[in-house]
Amino acid sequence: MSGAVIDGPEVVNFGCRLNIAEGEAIRAAAREAGTRDIIIFNSCAVTDEAVRQAKQAVRRALRERPDAAVVVTGCAAELEADRFAEMGARIVRNDAKGLAESYGAPFPAKARSRAYTPALSGADHARAFLGVQTGCSHSCTFCATVMARGTARSASIAAVVEAARVAIDRGQREVILTGVDLASYGDDSETTLAALVEELLALPIARLRLSSLDPNRIDDRLFALLTQESRVMPHVHLSLQAGDDMVLTRMKRRHRRADAVALVARLKAARPEIAIGADLIAGFPTEDDTMFANSLALIDDCDIVFGHIFPYSARAGTAAARMPQVGRAIARDRAATLRAANIRRCHAWLDAQAGHTATMLVERDGVSGHAENFAALTLTSPAAAGTIIPVRIGGRLDDRLTATEQAA
Ligand code: SF4
Repeated sequence: MSGAVIDGPEVVNFGCRLNIAEGEAIRAAAREAGTRDIIIFNSCAVTDEAVRQAKQAVRRALRERPDAAVVVTGCAAELEADRFAEMGARIVRNDAKGLAESYGAPFPAKARSRAYTPALSGADHARAFLGVQTGCSHSCTFCATVMARGTARSASIAAVVEAARVAIDRGQREVILTGVDLASYGDDSETTLAALVEELLALPIARLRLSSLDPNRIDDRLFALLTQESRVMPHVHLSLQAGDDMVLTRMKRRHRRADAVALVARLKAARPEIAIGADLIAGFPTEDDTMFANSLALIDDCDIVFGHIFPYSARAGTAAARMPQVGRAIARDRAATLRAANIRRCHAWLDAQAGHTATMLVERDGVSGHAENFAALTLTSPAAAGTIIPVRIGGRLDDRLTATEQAA
């Protein structure tokens, strides 16, 4: 989790892809408000550590920039508004973060609007993050996001298509759909994520990638798009969280271990080149050695090559925080064990691609980029930034593969 600084008005994004996408909307709103000397922290509250980093950054800004307007928005600002206000920062609620009037003076907080405005990240990358929904209507026992972002709200398909057109027109060849609970897109507007993907595929989009999906919300239509549509990238990131049914029950997750394993088997049977990523929490309250062993085994049983792995951290106000805790040290050790297993699996997957061909989207530096299955690639000699090129895979260097451009 890092604080990325973009030129002013200065916006510092923490956390998830949705926050990164919204960072651009915040900057545009602050520019429209015309406030010159302003620094805005778009914070995250997924873990204690994330909140601690935001507080540290805000304190530093208040100390080092006494004349600047220091503003905090995002999930940590929702959950710890008083703390940040006591420091002397100004608070902008998540639902007002994209509004110009939030950054003018004085700044009234607007009532929570129902529709979500799509959030498109900047033009500084060959890929564009596109936030299409926010909030969540589930109540996983470890999660504070619902308290920070409210219930699930989707942007209209028309508004998302318009935002995607902006990305295409500025030459971005890949669009990554993101949200808090992406798979629930459309639940509040009688449509579905699959319908949105179909509409977007009517545009000249070269590559469409989906971020984290709830495993039990992949309906047949979405499954077909993920496995049969060549412009939908063969990379599925699942919000699994654990590999033990008792832990999943206590997390109030809607799937069971066997569902996850069966889903991955179906995906790979339908499209063998699909790469699997997953969110996993280690050290959830009451998790014993046997339960943890079931989560560890999931790395292999679901062939997880891209793991987003966190040690459990109690979030104030959540049900899990009131359960018997396993302790930070154990949670950290188990997270390290999961990460090691994931790296081993990832390296084996990368090594198996040596000598094969792939298509690569070249990033702005002309050397780095990603294959369709999200393998990270480094070119042996530079190519045109922002282009999609055929490459032959060489060998692995840590978590990346070398690649040589091939004649088209
Ligand atoms: S699905 Fe669960 S973990 Fe994800 S945002 Fe909703 S409540 Fe939180």
